[in-house]
Amino acid sequence: MRKKFIAGNWKMYTSKASSVALAKSVAEGVKDDRVSVAVCPPAPWLVAVAEIVKGSFVHVGAQNCHYASEGAFTGDMSPQMILDAGCRYVIIGHSERRHGLAEPDLFLNRKVKAATSAGLTAIFCIGELLAERETQQTEAVLAFQLDAGLSGLTAEQISRVVLAYEPVWAIGTGKVATPQQAQEAHAFIRQHIGKRFGNDVAQQMIIQYGGSVKADNAQEILKQPDVDGALVGGASLKAETFLPIIQAAS
Ligand code: PEP
Repeated sequence: MRKKFIAGNWKMYTSKASSVALAKSVAEGVKDDRVSVAVCPPAPWLVAVAEIVKGSFVHVGAQNCHYASEGAFTGDMSPQMILDAGCRYVIIGHSERRHGLAEPDLFLNRKVKAATSAGLTAIFCIGELLAERETQQTEAVLAFQLDAGLSGLTAEQISRVVLAYEPVWAIGTGKVATPQQAQEAHAFIRQHIGKRFGNDVAQQMIIQYGGSVKADNAQEILKQPDVDGALVGGASLKAETFLPIIQAAS
Protein backbone atom coordinates (compact mmCIF):
# COMPACT_ATOMS: atom_id res chain seq x y z
CA MET A 1 0.00 0.00 0.00
CA ARG A 2 1.56 3.28 -1.09
CA LYS A 3 1.47 6.13 1.41
CA LYS A 4 0.21 9.45 0.04
CA PHE A 5 2.81 12.21 -0.17
CA ILE A 6 1.92 15.90 -0.24
CA ALA A 7 4.71 18.41 -0.90
CA GLY A 8 4.48 22.18 -0.99
CA ASN A 9 6.65 24.01 -3.48
CA TRP A 10 7.03 27.58 -2.22
CA LYS A 11 8.96 28.58 -5.37
CA MET A 12 10.55 32.07 -5.00
CA TYR A 13 7.98 33.29 -2.48
CA THR A 14 8.15 33.98 1.29
CA SER A 15 10.46 36.08 3.42
CA LYS A 16 12.54 34.54 6.18
CA ALA A 17 9.90 35.50 8.75
CA SER A 18 6.94 34.31 6.68
CA SER A 19 8.65 31.02 5.75
CA VAL A 20 9.29 30.25 9.44
CA ALA A 21 5.73 31.20 10.39
CA LEU A 22 4.27 29.08 7.57
CA ALA A 23 6.47 26.08 8.44
CA LYS A 24 5.42 26.37 12.10
CA SER A 25 1.72 26.45 11.20
CA VAL A 26 2.06 23.47 8.84
CA ALA A 27 4.01 21.48 11.46
CA GLU A 28 1.38 22.25 14.11
CA GLY A 29 -1.39 21.22 11.73
CA VAL A 30 0.05 17.82 10.78
CA LYS A 31 -0.75 15.63 13.78
CA ASP A 32 0.35 12.20 12.53
CA ASP A 33 2.27 10.50 9.76
CA ARG A 34 -0.64 8.92 7.89
CA VAL A 35 0.40 11.13 4.97
CA SER A 36 4.02 12.03 4.17
CA VAL A 37 4.39 15.81 4.11
CA ALA A 38 7.18 18.09 2.94
CA VAL A 39 7.64 21.79 2.39
CA CYS A 40 10.16 23.13 -0.12
CA PRO A 41 11.14 26.69 0.75
CA PRO A 42 13.54 28.93 -1.18
CA ALA A 43 17.19 27.96 -0.61
CA PRO A 44 18.09 30.75 1.85
CA TRP A 45 15.38 29.60 4.28
CA LEU A 46 16.12 25.84 4.20
CA VAL A 47 18.08 25.76 7.46
CA ALA A 48 15.62 27.97 9.36
CA VAL A 49 12.64 25.94 8.16
CA ALA A 50 14.38 22.62 8.92
CA GLU A 51 15.02 23.84 12.47
CA ILE A 52 11.38 24.83 12.94
CA VAL A 53 9.91 21.53 11.73
CA LYS A 54 12.47 19.33 13.53
CA GLY A 55 10.68 16.67 15.60
CA SER A 56 7.39 17.18 13.72
CA PHE A 57 5.85 15.06 10.97
CA VAL A 58 6.88 17.57 8.32
CA HIS A 59 10.04 17.21 6.24
CA VAL A 60 11.92 19.72 4.12
CA GLY A 61 12.98 19.70 0.50
CA ALA A 62 15.08 21.95 -1.70
CA GLN A 63 13.78 23.10 -5.07
CA ASN A 64 16.88 22.26 -7.09
CA CYS A 65 20.44 20.95 -6.83
CA HIS A 66 23.61 20.59 -8.86
CA TYR A 67 24.96 17.15 -9.74
CA ALA A 68 28.51 17.81 -8.59
CA SER A 69 29.53 17.23 -5.00
CA GLU A 70 31.50 20.49 -4.97
CA GLY A 71 33.25 22.80 -7.39
CA ALA A 72 33.27 26.11 -9.18
CA PHE A 73 29.49 26.30 -9.74
CA THR A 74 28.47 29.79 -8.73
CA GLY A 75 24.99 29.97 -7.29
CA ASP A 76 24.44 26.21 -7.01
CA MET A 77 24.02 23.75 -4.14
CA SER A 78 25.27 20.17 -3.98
CA PRO A 79 23.07 17.32 -2.74
CA GLN A 80 25.32 16.96 0.33
CA MET A 81 24.83 20.63 1.20
CA ILE A 82 21.07 20.13 0.97
CA LEU A 83 21.29 17.10 3.27
CA ASP A 84 23.44 19.06 5.71
CA ALA A 85 20.80 21.81 5.71
CA GLY A 86 18.37 19.26 7.15
CA CYS A 87 16.49 18.25 3.99
CA ARG A 88 15.14 14.87 2.97
CA TYR A 89 13.92 15.83 -0.52
CA VAL A 90 14.95 17.77 -3.59
CA ILE A 91 12.75 18.74 -6.53
CA ILE A 92 14.43 18.05 -9.87
CA GLY A 93 13.19 19.00 -13.33
CA HIS A 94 10.33 21.28 -12.32
CA SER A 95 8.90 22.76 -15.53
CA GLU A 96 9.94 26.23 -14.40
CA ARG A 97 13.53 24.97 -14.76
CA ARG A 98 13.10 22.32 -17.47
CA HIS A 99 11.20 24.67 -19.80
CA GLY A 100 11.67 28.07 -18.16
CA LEU A 101 15.47 27.74 -17.90
CA ALA A 102 15.97 25.11 -20.63
CA GLU A 103 17.60 22.54 -18.35
CA PRO A 104 18.37 19.55 -20.59
CA ASP A 105 17.42 15.94 -19.86
CA LEU A 106 21.03 14.81 -19.50
CA PHE A 107 21.62 17.46 -16.84
CA LEU A 108 18.45 16.38 -14.98
CA ASN A 109 19.54 12.74 -15.16
CA ARG A 110 22.88 13.63 -13.56
CA LYS A 111 21.07 15.54 -10.83
CA VAL A 112 18.73 12.61 -10.06
CA LYS A 113 21.72 10.24 -9.85
CA ALA A 114 23.73 12.58 -7.64
CA ALA A 115 20.84 13.45 -5.32
CA THR A 116 19.75 9.84 -4.79
CA SER A 117 23.34 8.61 -4.35
CA ALA A 118 23.83 11.23 -1.65
CA GLY A 119 20.77 9.91 0.20
CA LEU A 120 18.16 12.50 -0.78
CA THR A 121 14.81 11.52 -2.24
CA ALA A 122 14.41 13.18 -5.63
CA ILE A 123 10.99 14.51 -6.60
CA PHE A 124 11.47 14.17 -10.34
CA CYS A 125 8.97 16.21 -12.37
CA ILE A 126 7.70 15.30 -15.80
CA GLY A 127 4.84 16.64 -17.86
CA GLU A 128 3.68 17.66 -21.31
CA LEU A 129 3.06 21.10 -22.77
CA LEU A 130 -0.45 22.05 -23.90
CA ALA A 131 0.52 21.75 -27.59
CA GLU A 132 1.88 18.25 -26.94
CA ARG A 133 -1.38 17.16 -25.26
CA GLU A 134 -3.44 18.65 -28.09
CA THR A 135 -1.43 16.70 -30.66
CA GLN A 136 -1.73 13.39 -28.75
CA GLN A 137 1.94 13.34 -27.78
CA THR A 138 1.44 13.15 -24.01
CA GLU A 139 2.51 9.52 -23.60
CA ALA A 140 5.49 9.88 -25.95
CA VAL A 141 6.68 12.94 -24.01
CA LEU A 142 6.27 11.24 -20.63
CA ALA A 143 8.08 8.12 -21.86
CA PHE A 144 10.94 10.21 -23.22
CA GLN A 145 11.30 12.27 -20.04
CA LEU A 146 11.22 9.13 -17.87
CA ASP A 147 13.74 7.28 -20.03
CA ALA A 148 16.11 10.22 -20.20
CA GLY A 149 15.79 11.40 -16.62
CA LEU A 150 16.01 7.98 -15.00
CA SER A 151 18.52 6.43 -17.41
CA GLY A 152 21.14 4.23 -15.74
CA LEU A 153 19.73 4.46 -12.21
CA THR A 154 20.64 1.57 -9.90
CA ALA A 155 17.99 -0.24 -7.83
CA GLU A 156 19.20 1.74 -4.82
CA GLN A 157 18.87 5.05 -6.67
CA ILE A 158 15.42 4.34 -8.12
CA SER A 159 14.16 3.47 -4.62
CA ARG A 160 14.82 7.13 -3.71
CA VAL A 161 12.78 8.62 -6.54
CA VAL A 162 9.30 10.09 -6.28
CA LEU A 163 7.70 11.14 -9.57
CA ALA A 164 5.56 14.22 -9.99
CA TYR A 165 3.33 14.28 -13.05
CA GLU A 166 2.82 17.97 -13.72
CA PRO A 167 1.12 18.82 -17.00
CA VAL A 168 2.78 22.14 -17.79
CA TRP A 169 -0.53 23.69 -18.90
CA ALA A 170 -1.94 23.12 -15.40
CA ILE A 171 0.88 24.66 -13.35
CA GLY A 172 -0.07 27.98 -11.81
CA THR A 173 -2.83 28.46 -14.37
CA GLY A 174 -5.87 27.42 -12.34
CA LYS A 175 -6.53 24.76 -15.04
CA VAL A 176 -6.46 21.43 -13.28
CA ALA A 177 -6.32 18.12 -15.13
CA THR A 178 -9.57 16.20 -14.74
CA PRO A 179 -9.30 13.24 -12.35
CA GLN A 180 -9.58 10.99 -15.40
CA GLN A 181 -6.77 12.79 -17.28
CA ALA A 182 -4.58 12.52 -14.17
CA GLN A 183 -5.38 8.83 -13.67
CA GLU A 184 -4.67 7.99 -17.34
CA ALA A 185 -1.30 9.71 -17.24
CA HIS A 186 -0.36 8.16 -13.88
CA ALA A 187 -1.34 4.67 -15.04
CA PHE A 188 0.79 5.13 -18.15
CA ILE A 189 3.75 6.34 -16.06
CA ARG A 190 3.46 3.36 -13.69
CA GLN A 191 3.26 0.94 -16.60
CA HIS A 192 6.32 2.55 -18.20
CA ILE A 193 8.29 2.35 -14.94
CA GLY A 194 7.31 -1.33 -14.80
CA LYS A 195 8.79 -1.92 -18.26
CA ARG A 196 12.05 -0.20 -17.36
CA PHE A 197 12.57 -1.15 -13.72
CA GLY A 198 10.23 -4.09 -13.08
CA ASN A 199 6.79 -4.46 -11.60
CA ASP A 200 7.88 -4.29 -7.94
CA VAL A 201 9.49 -0.88 -8.44
CA ALA A 202 6.44 0.33 -10.40
CA GLN A 203 4.02 -0.77 -7.68
CA GLN A 204 6.05 0.96 -4.96
CA MET A 205 6.70 4.16 -6.91
CA ILE A 206 5.00 7.25 -5.46
CA ILE A 207 3.57 9.33 -8.30
CA GLN A 208 2.32 12.77 -7.29
CA TYR A 209 0.05 14.93 -9.40
CA GLY A 210 0.86 18.63 -9.67
CA GLY A 211 -0.99 21.47 -11.34
CA SER A 212 -3.40 23.87 -9.60
CA VAL A 213 -4.27 21.44 -6.79
CA LYS A 214 -6.50 23.17 -4.25
CA ALA A 215 -8.56 22.04 -1.27
CA ASP A 216 -11.70 21.85 -3.41
CA ASN A 217 -10.28 19.61 -6.15
CA ALA A 218 -7.75 17.58 -4.15
CA GLN A 219 -10.05 14.83 -2.98
CA GLU A 220 -11.28 13.80 -6.44
CA ILE A 221 -7.74 13.72 -7.83
CA LEU A 222 -6.23 11.95 -4.82
CA LYS A 223 -8.95 9.30 -4.98
CA GLN A 224 -7.60 8.00 -8.30
CA PRO A 225 -5.88 4.64 -7.84
CA ASP A 226 -2.54 5.67 -9.38
CA VAL A 227 -2.38 9.15 -7.84
CA ASP A 228 -0.24 8.92 -4.71
CA GLY A 229 -0.18 12.52 -3.63
CA ALA A 230 0.33 16.04 -4.87
CA LEU A 231 3.04 18.59 -5.52
CA VAL A 232 1.35 21.86 -4.62
CA GLY A 233 2.49 25.33 -5.60
CA GLY A 234 0.18 28.30 -4.94
CA ALA A 235 -2.02 26.57 -2.38
CA SER A 236 1.00 25.59 -0.26
CA LEU A 237 1.78 29.21 0.57
CA LYS A 238 -0.85 29.43 3.31
CA ALA A 239 -1.42 26.83 6.03
CA GLU A 240 -5.17 27.31 5.68
CA THR A 241 -5.06 26.26 2.01
CA PHE A 242 -2.32 23.61 2.36
CA LEU A 243 -3.53 21.70 5.41
CA PRO A 244 -6.93 20.81 3.87
CA ILE A 245 -5.09 19.16 0.95
CA ILE A 246 -3.16 17.01 3.43
CA GLN A 247 -6.47 16.19 5.12
CA ALA A 248 -7.96 15.26 1.75
CA ALA A 249 -5.09 12.81 1.26
CA SER A 250 -5.78 11.05 4.54
C1 PEP B 1 4.10 23.47 -8.78
O1 PEP B 1 4.73 24.46 -8.43
O2 PEP B 1 4.68 22.40 -8.93
C2 PEP B 1 2.67 23.60 -9.02
C3 PEP B 1 2.00 22.52 -9.37
O3 PEP B 1 2.10 24.84 -8.87
P1 PEP B 1 0.52 25.17 -8.72
O4 PEP B 1 -0.03 24.24 -7.68
O5 PEP B 1 0.47 26.61 -8.29
O6 PEP B 1 -0.10 24.94 -10.06
